[in-house]
Amino acid sequence: MAKKILVVGGGGREHAIIKALKKSPDCGEVWCAPGNGGIGYDAHCVNIKATDVETMVGFAETEKFDYVVVAQDDPLALGMVDALAKVGIPAFGPDKAAARIEASKVFSKDLMKKYGIPTAKYETFDDPAKVMEYIKAEGKYPVVIKADGLALGKGVLICENEEQAAEGVKEIMLDKKFGASGNHVVVEEFLTGPEVSVLSFTDGKVVKPMVSSMDHKRANDHDTGLNTGGMGTVAPNPYYTPAIAAECMEKIFLPTIKAMNAEGCPFKGCLYFGLMLTPDGPKVIEYNCRFGDPETQVVLPLLESDLLKIMTACTEGTLADTEVKFSDGAAACVILASGGYPVAYEKGKPITGLVDGQLPDEPDVTVYHSGTAIAEDGQLVTNGGRVLGVTATAPGLPRAIAIAYEAVEHIHFDKLHKRTDIGMRALKALAEE
Ligand code: AMP
Repeated sequence: MAKKILVVGGGGREHAIIKALKKSPDCGEVWCAPGNGGIGYDAHCVNIKATDVETMVGFAETEKFDYVVVAQDDPLALGMVDALAKVGIPAFGPDKAAARIEASKVFSKDLMKKYGIPTAKYETFDDPAKVMEYIKAEGKYPVVIKADGLALGKGVLICENEEQAAEGVKEIMLDKKFGASGNHVVVEEFLTGPEVSVLSFTDGKVVKPMVSSMDHKRANDHDTGLNTGGMGTVAPNPYYTPAIAAECMEKIFLPTIKAMNAEGCPFKGCLYFGLMLTPDGPKVIEYNCRFGDPETQVVLPLLESDLLKIMTACTEGTLADTEVKFSDGAAACVILASGGYPVAYEKGKPITGLVDGQLPDEPDVTVYHSGTAIAEDGQLVTNGGRVLGVTATAPGLPRAIAIAYEAVEHIHFDKLHKRTDIGMRALKALAEE
């Protein structure tokens, strides 16, 4: 029987998940909470905050959902999957104990150290004076300071000298810029090398990696400007060769799954490995306990297998027998953001060029909505920092990038900001192969 599904979250990632789920023959009615204006073209949106666990679980029970996909990090860290299990509703995503792999950097770093998983050398602290004592004694710059808890992707500071480090420690630990997330910090060595994102499906027993991808975190071209949630992505990542993939499986992916089991908190759901390919081999920069955004907007369009089947297999522990196949093609996603993002930006700007949220006559392009809303007069308007993700698929990366950039020319809103060099580094790496 077709399943009635609720997706928790409201960005481009959730839109990409919904579009992929709807290809499954087992997918019935799809709802999204809170969703957004553009997701409303593909799912029924209901205005419940993703972090309001009690209301969400009550809604899921009353509306008799068969399956819930918890796509966002904070409801996972708050234990939404545990709460749903208590009322008998199966859900995709880790429980609260397993979500610590993202929610606490101290937990994840200690896990890696204990189980020999390659990562940057580090120390953890809860006393600001001790942090600076350590950094001064080491005397190595740049040095990386990370807030322990969730900080909307902004809790990582790369400090070039002692003054910057002291300022960073003050912001995180004394001024509490990220609240309680800054009660503890991790200080780690600065690593170098190309970065690769690998999302994987796991049921706690086997791990099946998805196609690799490359994010572009800085706001402006040539990787300048502030760190953002992500300004664009490409997949596959040309730096991630089959030999490196095999090494990561052996030294990172499987050991992580085993480590979580050994700690008594098996991980089920999507485990994201943020990797750096250093001169000493691949190392873990960070784990996420859910799909990355905007990586999902290039990875899921390349998935050929049935996403709903894969997700339920992760929940039920039958992933070994479930097909996870990706196309040999490539995808590129260009984010259209509001001018001023990630600091201050305006909302409510009319968006033109789309029909029912999509570009007409562009079969290889999908528009994923992040910060959009429908105004009272029915007009689609901007409603956030990152507004749209425009993804193109093609047999190869150069063509995917070209199609995505042609497509964005048809979309307009006041003060639109985008990077013009998404995928250029990947193309350079391909040329050097
Ligand atoms: P995270 O939020 O942990 O992914 O960190 C954000 C970004 O900071 C990463 O994508 C890296 O570019 C950078 N970063 C984090 N840790 C390190 C490190 N140990 N060495 C160099 N760069 C790092």
